[in-house]
Amino acid sequence: MNRTKRTLLSAALLVAPAAVAEPPSARFPGEGFELRVYQDAEQAIPPSIFSIPGDGRHPDPPPGGAFRSSCNVFLVIEGDRRVLVDAGNGAPRGSLLAKLRADGVDPATITDILLTHEHRDHVGGLVGPDGAAAFPNATLHALVPPGADPAPLRPDLYELRAFADPAAATNLPAGFVAEPGPGHTPCHVFYRKGTLLFVGDAFHAVDLQIFVPEYCAKWDQEPATAVATRRALIQRSYTNIPKPKPNRITPLSSPPIDHPPLFLCGAHIPFPGIVSKIHLPMASANESPSFDTPDPGTPIPAEPRPPEPLVKIRRRADADPATNAPPVR
Ligand SMILES: [Zn+2]
Repeated sequence: MNRTKRTLLSAALLVAPAAVAEPPSARFPGEGFELRVYQDAEQAIPPSIFSIPGDGRHPDPPPGGAFRSSCNVFLVIEGDRRVLVDAGNGAPRGSLLAKLRADGVDPATITDILLTHEHRDHVGGLVGPDGAAAFPNATLHALVPPGADPAPLRPDLYELRAFADPAAATNLPAGFVAEPGPGHTPCHVFYRKGTLLFVGDAFHAVDLQIFVPEYCAKWDQEPATAVATRRALIQRSYTNIPKPKPNRITPLSSPPIDHPPLFLCGAHIPFPGIVSKIHLPMASANESPSFDTPDPGTPIPAEPRPPEPLVKIRRRADADPATNAPPVR
């Protein structure tokens, strides 16, 4: 798979987008479906937005002064379902409608919209420039916990299929399942499809928060919970195992990975909005942490990828073939 590795260092090398016309979407083929990503709006976020709960200090500014970010909207096309994950900002900031049309997608053909939460940059685009529903034939799906106000989700314009618990969202389209994503807002929820996990606003500046997940944007309403959610996500996209010492098989000292690594699809992960792999070096290693983003056109793995084997275990000639244990003498 062809991926672009980005590191904290490489962020310094990013330059302004080229002046050539970009295609309106980045496309990723899946097995039986296609993922398209649209950049609804560009954005960068200054360090003053971030702090660690209980500590008023802000992170050091990155090169250029602000953290790379984006406003992305995802579209999954599977059979007769056209499913948006969030709806973007809407006019005047958002360009989703124009980009969908430029990409050959009539907004009236969108069948479903999975909302990650109720903030303006995710639900503003539900309303078209004329004040009517921008996606007139879409059904909305959203977490609305008891006591939460569904009004920002615009149930006045759409059929809203609200669920009070992600586990109860059993009727989502195209094989999506909902997962808890607590911490950002009361309605914040994740959606999973195969190896894709749509994480909404779990990350606002991935260059910062993957490496120090304790940093919260000021928009995280329950910061301590948001930190725990972010940490869990990093574990699920963490695919490397600390390197062993030379000439020695080192037992895995890190917690075993008990779930498949996932592609994290984030509304504010720099376009095209996907982190496909996170590399966390050992604390003692002289390496920088890094993460990969897939290039457009990269196939989405159908099956969970196993962790990368960094240790080749040589089989003893006299070992038990099932367990590799030496014979008892
Ligand atoms: Zn957002």
